[in-house]
Amino acid sequence: MSATAVTTELSLRGEVIGPDDADYDEARKIWNGSVDKRPALIARCRGVADVLAALDYARDNDLLIAVRGGGHSIPGHSTCDGGIVIDLSQMKGIRVDPSARTVRAEAGVTWGEFDRETHAFGLATTGGQITTTGIAGLTLGGGVGWLMRKHGLTCDNLLSVDVVTPDGRYVTASENENPELFWGLRGGGGNFGIATSFEYRVHPLEQVLAGPLVHRLERAGEGLRFLRDFLDSAPDELTTFAVFATCPPHEPFPAHLHGQPVFLIVPCWSGPQDEGERLLRPLREFGPPEADLVGPLPYPIFQSMLDGTAPWGLRHYGKSDFLGELDDEAIDVLVDRAAGLPGPLSQVLIAQLGGAVARVSPDATAFGNRGAGFFYHSIVLWTDPEEDADQIAWARSLWQGMRPHSAGVYVNFLAEDEGRLDEVYGTRTFERLTALKEEFDPTNALRLNHNIAPGRS
Ligand SMILES: Cc1cc2nc3c(=O)[nH]c(=O)nc-3n(C[C@H](O)[C@H](O)[C@H](O)COP(=O)(O)OP(=O)(O)OC[C@H]3O[C@@H](n4cnc5c(N)ncnc54)[C@H](O)[C@@H]3O)c2cc1C
Repeated sequence: MSATAVTTELSLRGEVIGPDDADYDEARKIWNGSVDKRPALIARCRGVADVLAALDYARDNDLLIAVRGGGHSIPGHSTCDGGIVIDLSQMKGIRVDPSARTVRAEAGVTWGEFDRETHAFGLATTGGQITTTGIAGLTLGGGVGWLMRKHGLTCDNLLSVDVVTPDGRYVTASENENPELFWGLRGGGGNFGIATSFEYRVHPLEQVLAGPLVHRLERAGEGLRFLRDFLDSAPDELTTFAVFATCPPHEPFPAHLHGQPVFLIVPCWSGPQDEGERLLRPLREFGPPEADLVGPLPYPIFQSMLDGTAPWGLRHYGKSDFLGELDDEAIDVLVDRAAGLPGPLSQVLIAQLGGAVARVSPDATAFGNRGAGFFYHSIVLWTDPEEDADQIAWARSLWQGMRPHSAGVYVNFLAEDEGRLDEVYGTRTFERLTALKEEFDPTNALRLNHNIAPGRS
């Protein structure tokens, strides 16, 4: 479809980009470089009126709809072949209310942008650990991050959402307005409408005591067992990830480990620093580590620390599961398989949940599996398409090994349409989400997502 033909029909305050436009190839890219799709047009919305117009246009022309915020969809749901991408990435408004400790952010905001604005007022909330991830997709799926044990999931901090429904209505969802929709938007993904802005609760936080403790790979088994026991009594201010990775080949990582497989323990303490220094001492002494890079950091600096591990455009596949607990057998499988990472860019993360995540009632939001103690996530990244089969097989093999320990899965970490939504939500929540889908999107206009199809309740 030529750009001229498109713009005469769809008029937006933002740009309408078609295959003949010079910026089409750039505009159609998403984070996962394995996904290479060619939409008929990309509607770069600048406001709610543009979203309404794009949705109208899609309906009139019977176009497949992809909705895009930050473009980090792991399976590539935010683009499509031959349809329309309703691209909200240019909707960047953020307004912090420091006295009410709330923030309203439009759906194209990324976590780096969000953290920058809230940090100016010494405030923060649980958000994604890579600055280029969008607030939209992450919040709608749940949202795990460094502050989750203290402040809950990202969606637990949501106060209201403005939504354009598939039939073209503009509604607000909150505890008081459209409460069932608000329930479903907190974990049910982009199934029920196009969110145009989000209002969050934010919390005082200037800095964290955080960073990696770098161990040789051989310490991983012992390290995970020590960590599990140490975390058993950890306060909510502590969220900790363990990571199997390749040591970055630069300072401040120790020169003798550059390019070597390593095991990292990464604590993030969001309480008073002196208390954190005391509490983290045994963890920092364990081993001892080859390098202790834990220190006080402004929160947004720590939030951007992992950016180098997740650049745009690489090929990607991954598998993940919640774990009820981190028992010895699960640790043995992780150590055995993760020791052979399939490339220098790949990682396996293991994170403790609990705390505020587990204290929210399972019925309060659509997010499932709140009782899980941990999750693990293999993040496989590579560049050569010829390696696709081997890289994917590696992730699947680790997942098969971990399968007996699974306690469900997080919707935002599904790498493909795996038919596992029962494991994401459980039967009761899934039925409730299906009823909500029937109410708000009976024709399944929004189906490029981890789809809750109407007509099954
Ligand atoms: C590098 C990387 C790091 C990540 N880190 C974290 C992390 O720390 N914590 C975590 O919880 N998850 C994390 N994730 C997973 C992440 O939450 C999901 O991939 C999420 O969908 C990304 O949101 P997005 O807006 O960037 O993506 P997009 O690709 O833009 O959107 C993903 C999907 O969300 C829906 N959607 C997006 N915007 C809207 C909207 N405005 N209205 C309705 N539906 C919408 C659509 O279904 C869309 O297909 C990470 C993913 C990547 C690739």
